[in-house]
Amino acid sequence: MIDTHCHIDDPQYAEDLETFLAEQKLGGVEAMFVPGVDATSVIDVLRVCDTYPNYLYPALGLHPENVKEDWQNQLAMIKAVVDQRCATSNLNAASRLIAIGEIGLDYHWDVTFKNEQQSAMCEQMRWAQYYDLPVMIHSRDAIEDTLTILREFHSVKGVMHCFSGSHEVAQQVVKMGYYLGIGGVITFKNCKLADNLIGIPLERLVLETDAPYMAPVPYRGKRNESRWMLYVAERLAQVYECSTEHIIEVTTANAKELFIGK
Ligand SMILES: [Zn+2]
Repeated sequence: MIDTHCHIDDPQYAEDLETFLAEQKLGGVEAMFVPGVDATSVIDVLRVCDTYPNYLYPALGLHPENVKEDWQNQLAMIKAVVDQRCATSNLNAASRLIAIGEIGLDYHWDVTFKNEQQSAMCEQMRWAQYYDLPVMIHSRDAIEDTLTILREFHSVKGVMHCFSGSHEVAQQVVKMGYYLGIGGVITFKNCKLADNLIGIPLERLVLETDAPYMAPVPYRGKRNESRWMLYVAERLAQVYECSTEHIIEVTTANAKELFIGK
């Protein structure tokens, strides 16, 4: 299994990180992708990924909820780190940059910076285009605007992280060449996501945790762990009427194709 989205730089993991990662490995997790969310976090993300190269891989970006008055400064700082990490001399770094993320639009709590969120997303889509990197997209209560921007950058591909949208949206996203990041939400009672995925090709799904959040049933509410993606895979096996092993095999290959294959 590959965890395509986890915030392992979160302080909740600091104390037992070494043991924690060993447990994930034993639990069948072969790699974890760690996105940044602002200028401070990208430094933490790189530090933790550089400590565990070939296991933790960094993505760098400004999360829409962190787009505030200082967004241009934040972007400039993150861009400098992205440029540095993508410089020719660093291309062989073990913890090479795997994506731009997480980026996107979030109108759920606050729309004060709606326009700025859109500008910040576009700017970061340009980085992805320039460096030929995939993107990790966060979209909450903003799907139409998100899809409009993604269509503008049709050469860029990526993941709709923590996907929980309708069947129609899933179809649109997949048609654009994007993948759906499926996490613990699919195991929650009364969640419609499983039904919405019927008919969506398995070749377009990747597993993720969004750890420390979104732990699957039976661990809902706990600090999330990548090895618990097994419960997500089991639920997907019911939806796709196949073995859990098959789900793991295909989603792992998908993650490699999108993030490592080029
Ligand atoms: Zn996230």
